[in-house]
Order: sequence, then C-alpha cells, then structure tokens
Amino acid sequence: MTKVIDCVAIGEEIMQEIQEETSQLKAKGITPGIATLLVGDDFGSKMYRGQVEKFCEEAGFNYVNKILPAEATEEQVKEAVLELNADHEVSGILPLRPFPEHISDYAVINSIDVNKDIDCFHPFNMGRLTLGEATFPPATPAAVIEILERFARKEDKVDPKDFFEGAEIVVVGHSNTVGKPIALLVLNRNATTSVTHVFSSMKGNLEKHTTGADILIVAAGKAGLIGPEQVKEGAIVIDVGINRVKVFDEKGEPVLNEKGKQKSKTVGDVSFEAVKGKTKAITPVPKGVGSVTNRMLMKNALKACKIHYKIL
Ligand code: NAP
Repeated sequence: MTKVIDCVAIGEEIMQEIQEETSQLKAKGITPGIATLLVGDDFGSKMYRGQVEKFCEEAGFNYVNKILPAEATEEQVKEAVLELNADHEVSGILPLRPFPEHISDYAVINSIDVNKDIDCFHPFNMGRLTLGEATFPPATPAAVIEILERFARKEDKVDPKDFFEGAEIVVVGHSNTVGKPIALLVLNRNATTSVTHVFSSMKGNLEKHTTGADILIVAAGKAGLIGPEQVKEGAIVIDVGINRVKVFDEKGEPVLNEKGKQKSKTVGDVSFEAVKGKTKAITPVPKGVGSVTNRMLMKNALKACKIHYKIL
C-alpha cells in the first residue's frame, strides 16, 4: 500500500527537536540566532524574511532584521555582511536574493563567514559538500535527505545507511541550489546516482532513467512532468517542485473564483493522483518537502551556533 509521507509531521518533529536543543543551549547562556539581509524590497524576499522571523520566534532563536535601501552600494552591502559576521548574536546569515542588479551575488556571498553560511551559498561550503565533508547542506536538499532518512527508520525499519547504499536514485533537475546538491548528498551516501535535466528530456531519455529509480527525486519546476509511465512500480517518489497552475473542470472549462477570475492552485512536478498508486511512498505538494525546508535552515543555524561556541 502507498504511504503518503506526512512532511508536515516531520517538520513539526524537527522543530520540537530544535526547541529542545535551543533550551539546553539557553540554559548555558547561549542563544542561536539568524540574520536576514534584504537589499531593496523584492516581494518574494520580504515574504521569506517574514517566515524566517516567525520560525526564529517559534524556535526561541534571536532574529536580526538587516535591511538596506535598493540604492545601497555593493561596498555598503559587504560592510553589512562583515558586521553580521562579527555579531555574536548571529549564528547564521541569510542573504535574501535577488539583490538589485548593481550588487553582485558573488561578491556578497563571498564575504559571508563560511561558518555562518547556513544555506550553503559560499563556494567553500559547496566544495565541502562535493568532497563529502561536514558542512551546512542547503536547506531544500537537506530536507529531502531528512525525509528519506526518517522514512527509512520509521517505515522501512532500516538503518538510513543501508537504505541509501546501492539504491538506484534518479534526480530530475540539476540546478546549483536544488538538484545538484541533492545528487551530491545521495552520492555521498553511496547511492547509485543518476542526474537528469532538460537535455535528457529533449533527447527523449528521461523515462529510460526515471523508470529505473528505486527513489525518484524530482526538482524541475514543471507541473505534470512525471506521470505513471515515468515511475517504476514500488518506487519512492519525492516531489520537490512547486508550481502554480490554473484550475479547469472535467470539461476543460476554467473554474472561476467569487471575483470571476480563474482559480489557481499549487502542484508539484509529479501528477500526484495518477502516480500515487504505483509507488511505495510519495510526498504531496503542497504540504510536502517545503514543510521541512525551513526547519533544516534552523538546524543549520543551531549547528553554526555550536561551532561558534566550540561545543561541536
Ligand atoms: P531551476 O533553477 O529552474 O532548475 C530546474 C531544473 O530542472 C534545471 O536543472 C532544468 O534543467 C530541469 N528541467 C527543467 N525542465 C525539465 C524537463 N522538462 N525535464 C527534465 N529536467 C528539466 O529550479 P530550482 O530552483 O532547482 O527548483 C526546482 C523546483 O523546486 C521549482 O519548482 C521550485 O519552486 C521548487 N523548490 C521547492 C523548494 C521546497 O522547499 N519544496 C525549495 C526550492 C525550490 P536545465 O538546467 O538543463 O534547464
């Protein structure tokens, strides 16, 4: 029978663990903290900033809200990063991108203390990830691993090490922030790892790979990319994609809201209802991987705090 993985419950479980560890640190006079760095007023960045603040409050972390005007120079942004690097209340720094065009991502990210780079933006930490060394794994890829590890322990009743070793894992998508680090994290766990992308699709080779996957991880940002014909019977499917799509009824007519506008909804890259029955386990969208992602960021901040105070 298919198991729909309860990512919301996993996210809550992780938050409880973080809260417990934070209390223990606070008893020693140490409080972990996250600083966000916003330059200008990008809408998506402001939304994300608000979420980070909320999660910090929930976890009992310090939160520092650094905002610079859109006209700030690159030097001023780098200076702000250096101040946060030196601030003992800040364990982790989150630059909220996109920055205004005149600010180089590269210059800002390279000025972050590598021990405060909690979403693994810095090339040093990406290098460590590639080498399989301890680092801050980026939040979304770390969420995928956390979901699979907890599934292995609780549902499959196997040690995560045995779960990954030799498993046929196929990743769809190879972006630097999601697909590629996911592939590195599973490769570092000795999975037989294939990475597919838009060129695999263009050559008509996507299905050849995905149907061989024991574990299929999809991060392409294309609604409906994966249907039942792309999935092996009994596979575990992790859908990272988040897409907004228009809603139509069975006759193909647009479904309207009370204001007369066409309704839209959030879906993943996998046709959930059509694929579900074929799988051993699957994550939904919404309430899927995204429910764990922010928690992994908090976990990284906790780790950064322990590194800072030399208790790790
Ligand atoms: P991205 O930078 O646009 O990368 C998408 C990747 O998918 C690229 O490697 C692209 O290949 C590949 N791709 C596109 N169309 C494809 C196709 N038809 N067949 C095979 N591969 C295809 O996006 P991203 O930042 O990696 O994010 C991927 C998805 O995850 C998005 O939907 C995003 O919203 C979602 N996301 C979710 C979370 C979460 O917490 N759940 C967090 C971050 C992102 P090429 O590079 O060769 O074009």
